[in-house]
Amino acid sequence: MPEEKKVIIRRLNTAKDLGKFMADYYYELDAAAKSGKQKIAWCTSVGPAEILRGMGYLIYFPETHSAMLGSTRMATDLIPKANAIGYSPEICSYLTADIGAFLENVTPLANIYKGIESVPRPDVLVYNTNQCRDVQDWFNWYAKRFDVPVVGIETYRNVPEVTPAHITSISRQMENIVQPLEDVAGRKLDMDEFKNAVALSRECSNLWEKCLAAAAARPSPLTFFDGTTLMGPAVVGRGTQKAIDVYRLLLEELNERVAAGEGAIENERYRLYWDGMPVWGRLSMHSKLFAGLQANVIASTYCSSWIFTALDAANPFESMARAYTELFIVRSDDYKEKYIRDKLAFFQCDGIIYHDAKTCPNNTNCRYGMAQRLEKKTGIPSLIMHGDLNDLRLLSDEQTRTNVEAFIEQLEESGKAA
Ligand code: SF4
Repeated sequence: MPEEKKVIIRRLNTAKDLGKFMADYYYELDAAAKSGKQKIAWCTSVGPAEILRGMGYLIYFPETHSAMLGSTRMATDLIPKANAIGYSPEICSYLTADIGAFLENVTPLANIYKGIESVPRPDVLVYNTNQCRDVQDWFNWYAKRFDVPVVGIETYRNVPEVTPAHITSISRQMENIVQPLEDVAGRKLDMDEFKNAVALSRECSNLWEKCLAAAAARPSPLTFFDGTTLMGPAVVGRGTQKAIDVYRLLLEELNERVAAGEGAIENERYRLYWDGMPVWGRLSMHSKLFAGLQANVIASTYCSSWIFTALDAANPFESMARAYTELFIVRSDDYKEKYIRDKLAFFQCDGIIYHDAKTCPNNTNCRYGMAQRLEKKTGIPSLIMHGDLNDLRLLSDEQTRTNVEAFIEQLEESGKAA
């Protein structure tokens, strides 16, 4: 049994700036909802945010709210409320937690940000099914409740190679949502503002990519568990200067850590890759569990999902179509396997944790033999953790602890320690 050491996890100073960024973001939305001075669009996390910015919308992301419901451990009690109106316990627990919260008229925003009482009312809802079909049902439900329009982009799935036909189809769909969005906004899409948002998104993406790449250093200055909250601006703030400003600070601090040889955890011996969703209600517990075993989860598919290298302000619709179709989640298993292999090599990982999230098959990649195939090709062992992103009834903490300890012991015995 590997000996569990005293846990030392070094917090990043920039976490405070990130906290302020998120507070400013929610207060701005709340003020707009109360005053009615600026239109609000609800958008999926990898939806066409830049088009919305080109029409002056403020953007609210229900998935981020759901992640907060998870991390505050409110979700598990709220999910049955959505089940009671016909949404299965088997489907996305972001959807069920969020709709459950709406039905109960509760939000973690009210507990965290004084003065905010509810989520901001939408003027329009915009989805892209590039991640899953659940978002379409989720957003359609809200459209009926608020009696506002919903527009969407239907994306290809299981894509081996992104072809010109994919790009043409998706960019046309993006162009087609402009008119209904202009009708709600009461103004035209400003091409300069739109291009500027694409340029800012690209810069944000570049900085976020560099922040994540800093974890390749030994010891790694970053953990996956920090990354899940640090990625907030890449999700809700892309297309804005504020997100860029905060990532410049983060990158500076990470580079300082690397230069000083300071790791995010004390005595990093094992370097792990995480595939799948985080367990939002167990971030702190998992962070301590791994750090206590001198294992650092340094990289993930999930945090890298907000890197959009294809974005190009000179060609906004087509480059957005490419960026939002090139995503890992949209791609075929062959592509995904290669992607993970490249990450394992870049970050010099000793093992992989696959999170089999019961209610999110879309972000779960270990159900069709990928773990075994990759292990055969790379020799890098893996562990499948059974759980869920939000529904804590679907996991066993004891089982997780036992399995993770056994996995680290396996790495120890195979001489994988740094
Ligand atoms: S990708 Fe998974 S977690 Fe995200 S909205 Fe879809 S089903 Fe839910």
